[in-house]
Amino acid sequence: MTKTIALIAHDNKKDELVNWAKQNAAVLSGYNLCGTGTTARRVSEATGLEVYRYLSGPLGGDQQIGAKIAEGLIDAVVFFCDPLQMQPHDPDVKALLRIAVVYDVPIATNKSTADCIIK
Ligand code: PGA
Repeated sequence: MTKTIALIAHDNKKDELVNWAKQNAAVLSGYNLCGTGTTARRVSEATGLEVYRYLSGPLGGDQQIGAKIAEGLIDAVVFFCDPLQMQPHDPDVKALLRIAVVYDVPIATNKSTADCIIK
């Protein structure tokens, strides 16, 4: 069965994630992709890949992805979070990180780790 990767990036990290996705588009094309609203749209526009769009992060997208992890429907998360800026939905971010740990789902919070996951 095709595995599913969720893509999320905070605003200051979106360019970095889009570039990472472009560099790895060939590999990513072998997976089902989903992501929070804006991230999903930007990755899809930049790569031409289909990326299922959940709600935007601050509007509940992180929680939707967390729920899918709990249901066993997401195999890995690439989540470029911004360590230098407070997020309005910080509790949701923490909940997503926590649920990924609970279910032992790999979650890459920076480019080096994302590279490891995709290799
Ligand atoms: P976004 O959400 O992709 O809709 O911007 C990401 C986030 O900020 O958590």
